[in-house]
Amino acid sequence: MARIDLDHIRHAYGPNPKSPRDYALREVNHIFEDGGAYALLGPSGCGKTTLLNIISGLLHASHGRLLFDGRDVSHTSTQQRNIAQVFQFPVIYDTMTVYDNLAFPLRNRGVPEAEVDRKVRDTLAMIDLADWAKRRARGLTADQKQKISLGRGLVRSDVNAILFDEPLTVIDPHMKWVLRSQLKQLHRRFGYTMVYVTHDQTEALTFAETVVVMYDGEIVQIGTPAELFERPKHTFVGYFIGSPGMNVLPVEIDGGRARLGAQTIALPGAPKSTTGTLELGIRPEHVRLGRDGMPVSITKVEDIGRHKVVRATLEGREVVAIVGEDEEVPAEPKMRFEPRGINLYADSWRIETEA
Ligand code: ADP
Ligand code: MG
Repeated sequence: MARIDLDHIRHAYGPNPKSPRDYALREVNHIFEDGGAYALLGPSGCGKTTLLNIISGLLHASHGRLLFDGRDVSHTSTQQRNIAQVFQFPVIYDTMTVYDNLAFPLRNRGVPEAEVDRKVRDTLAMIDLADWAKRRARGLTADQKQKISLGRGLVRSDVNAILFDEPLTVIDPHMKWVLRSQLKQLHRRFGYTMVYVTHDQTEALTFAETVVVMYDGEIVQIGTPAELFERPKHTFVGYFIGSPGMNVLPVEIDGGRARLGAQTIALPGAPKSTTGTLELGIRPEHVRLGRDGMPVSITKVEDIGRHKVVRATLEGREVVAIVGEDEEVPAEPKMRFEPRGINLYADSWRIETEA
């Protein structure tokens, strides 16, 4: 396995890119450490597939360098990069047996037949497909075929990295869960360098130790699930992670306090010198509804099992709160923000407070 270094990577699909808008990847600098398990999380169209294809060599970046263990591989072929890639939809040979589908990438690289046999059998057992070895792929369902695709990615233990591009999209929800935990176990056992692309936060947060969040052609934050949740560096991260996402409210800052309409919110640790309009980010989990605080009117209550999602209007803005199942919401509720849950943003990027 290898350490993968993306050095000032930019990519434009069209000719003659002029503005940053013309780039699918605008400026990516990141190191995937050898043996790390990463999730690459972001909305559709943010550049995840483009980035994976640049790593595997299906695509050559318009600018920047790609290094494997410090060696520049920017201009090498897919074959030379030696990366296993599992795509969103199954890529298998319909006329071959399940066994031969897995054996193919190994035989292709001249692996001795005894080793091919051992690896294929091990991998089939790992993904619970041992009984299917002799079946032809043609008659299988989409999610069975996708398991074979996963198998084809996992069978090659000599690769520099394994890249997964939303591989569980066609898999049914229960199987998704099973396969994800199997991938995690494989990572622990073999120390693969794994990059797992998804637009699903639950999938990212359960798979990876490190989540790399992409937005609009850039990496906006890298962190553990807890870091992303508690200290979103960009309002997009706050909004995208958590369900419902973070509230973002425009506030006027003056003398270490935030003013939202007629309301004043204390900001422990906020720089006293900061003034002007900023964005205050607060998660629904840190919004309290009770008898003291700022007057609000409630517009909607959704009971979603262990808690309720309450939408309220504060100074003409919608604020979402999460309220425990047993918590009483008074008839004329007031709202408070837990100080530890407050983040401040200028042009969508978090500004460090002193608290
Ligand atoms: P994601 O995988 O995160 O959904 P992609 O990497 O597929 O995003 O796409 C990033 C951006 O590049 C999108 O705006 C998409 O429309 C554009 N794009 C992707 N593939 C091509 C292509 N072959 N030609 C032109 N534009 C493309
Ligand atoms: Mg994609």
